[in-house]
Amino acid sequence: MRAFAEGEPVAVALAEGLDRPLDYRAPAGGVRAGDFVAAPLGPRRVLGVVWGPATGEAPEAKLRPLIGRLDVAPMRAEMRAFLARVADYTLTPLPAMVRLATRAPGLGEPPAARALLRLTERPPDRETPARARVLAAFAEYGNLGFAPGELCQLAGVSAGVLKGLEAQGVIVREIVARDAAYPALDADGPGRALSEDQAAAAARLRAGVAAGGYSATLLKGVTGSGKTEVYLEAVAECLARGRQALVLLPEIALSAQFLERVEARFGARPAEWHSGVGQTNRRRAWRAAADGSARLVVGARSALFLPFRALGLVVVDEEHDGSYKQEDGALYNARDMAVLRASIEGATVVLASATPSLETWANAASGKYARIDLPERFGTATLPEMAAIDMRVDAPPQGRWISEPLREAVSARLAAGEQALLFLNRRGYAPLTLCRACGTQVGCAQCDARMVEHRFRGRLVCHQCGATRPIPTVCPSCGVEGRMAALGPGVERLAEEAASLWPEARTAILSSDLADGAGSLRARIEAIAGGEADLVIGTQIVSKGHNFPLLTLVGVIDADLGLQGADLRAAEKTFQLIRQVAGRSGRAERRGAALIQTCQPEHPCLRAILTGDDEGFWRAEASLRERAGAPPYGRMAGIVVSGTDEARVWEVARALARAGEPLRAAGAMLWGPAPAPIARIRGRHRVRLLAQSPKGVALQAALRAWLAAAPAPSNVRVGVDVDPQTFL
Ligand code: ADP
Ligand code: ZN
Repeated sequence: MRAFAEGEPVAVALAEGLDRPLDYRAPAGGVRAGDFVAAPLGPRRVLGVVWGPATGEAPEAKLRPLIGRLDVAPMRAEMRAFLARVADYTLTPLPAMVRLATRAPGLGEPPAARALLRLTERPPDRETPARARVLAAFAEYGNLGFAPGELCQLAGVSAGVLKGLEAQGVIVREIVARDAAYPALDADGPGRALSEDQAAAAARLRAGVAAGGYSATLLKGVTGSGKTEVYLEAVAECLARGRQALVLLPEIALSAQFLERVEARFGARPAEWHSGVGQTNRRRAWRAAADGSARLVVGARSALFLPFRALGLVVVDEEHDGSYKQEDGALYNARDMAVLRASIEGATVVLASATPSLETWANAASGKYARIDLPERFGTATLPEMAAIDMRVDAPPQGRWISEPLREAVSARLAAGEQALLFLNRRGYAPLTLCRACGTQVGCAQCDARMVEHRFRGRLVCHQCGATRPIPTVCPSCGVEGRMAALGPGVERLAEEAASLWPEARTAILSSDLADGAGSLRARIEAIAGGEADLVIGTQIVSKGHNFPLLTLVGVIDADLGLQGADLRAAEKTFQLIRQVAGRSGRAERRGAALIQTCQPEHPCLRAILTGDDEGFWRAEASLRERAGAPPYGRMAGIVVSGTDEARVWEVARALARAGEPLRAAGAMLWGPAPAPIARIRGRHRVRLLAQSPKGVALQAALRAWLAAAPAPSNVRVGVDVDPQTFL
């Protein structure tokens, strides 16, 4: 590793500021490439990583010395290469990547012992706003202990305020041992007895891990086939070889149920990394990933950016899931970046799903990924019987959404003491509030979107910006009273209909807005799995890898919902969603059924779902995309130009369109500008362009040259989304 003596110039990638490493002088004691350092940036002190020899971006005489080296394991060359590649691929500024890779508090503090401030019972002798903020910070984090610096930052107070509180005995200082080690995992213990298919699949995955280098495998198994059991065998192999394993799951699928399965297999809990993990455990997981003592990390999307020391395996479970795409800040797809990271680290990557993304299916079809199939459910469980209910024939009366055949089927299951699930991918009570006198639809003041009625909260809510207002009784436009009507169904309204049909049934609604945070949602899901509800009414949250053993009937209220609109992935997403939801049914002994309400049972997507012809569906979808030059057979980047001044936004978008030569020269096409489907969000006007190219084109380089040719003024933002999942 390259070392730099005190005073020698070095390049440092900072967590803030410009999109390139800046040059500094090495501090006393010198630094090595990868060292975490504190660097002066203007008047501030900023976290950074020594990237390598100085770039020469500034004259040597002007370089400032680094403040110091932090007591953290240096970032490995592989990790630096990974961050640089992700930044390059997604056109994300380097500082944003450094922040993604350092999302643990107190990185600079020495690991041996640390001071923690804790709240006592004693109130302050005098309330001040600063003191109130300190108390609020404790309350917000459930009275955890805080490092002094952390608390100053969280509460926005000076160290003096804390000293004052400490002198009064309102807070006390404790010296605690360094982060507790993770318990050892037992990789040698026998797993469950596997079925023949499972054993064959596990053997292939184990062999891949044992071979040691990079490999990628699609593990395609129907819901309930035991994919988890199988990939845990690959984890066991990885652990036995002394390397670290990472299992990625959609945030909401990171349930206690899942962690218990891991514990049952390896005798202890793995390290966790998701939104519910507190500050202390974040820091602990980050450091233990870096020093290699966290052998298995189970986490959501951003766990991919942990500083593993010897990564041997990455599993991406439910790899088709849309939540792997980060839609904010750095726009990366954790599934694709997991493959990139594995290839850099020489690790095995396993992409598991019952309904893989077309990208992954195509990569397996072309031989780029290996593919392993588990076509049957484990044990006696069989796949649910699927049937369509033709809503043109069995239309329920106006204002109702449950057809007669579905009603009868639910009644029969409830009578038998089994659980039923009604699926509708719409939050709230009604998607539309309309004045019957003048026809006005209530919209959001800040967005080009209708307000959605949420009756439990008693408010109209904008699903774009979160703004709320009271449910009006008087039309905001014409002033007529008593003519406002809620139109269309959401899960809350469906629950109302269900309550009138099955007044005796215990009904639970699962919707992301009806719980505070992922943790409480997981708790509700587990209660349902435990049998605390007869009837479950849910949005797409119910599709995410949960096991409801008592559930034997799934009713899809409106299978056509996702097929409307021009989204490139409409059919693929509908296929995945309905197959996944239907797959919740009949996962234990009792055979399950899924009934699908639709006005177009002959639609190819729905036909494939009903007949179980997955391969036929993917082949047809693949050939459509191939002919259109669309992903995965072509490349795309979505460009959103946004700002509060509509005229300026259009000016910039048109200027970009005119400057499209670098794209055309590289072999890419540029479409637009056109108003985005949601043309205004939070008061910002939005205009879209779309770049499309054949696969071999170096699209990012062309995009960079293009954007540099038409720089936007500071009040207009140009966001680029490479491999977009949505086009809103
Ligand atoms: P998938 O991830 O493919 O949906 P899971 O791994 O969750 O499937 O397995 C479905 C159910 O079958 C789980 O309850 C799991 O415990 C059980 N199961 C799967 N394989 C085995 C096995 N070999 N022995 C015992 N139970 C198993
Ligand atoms: Zn809004």
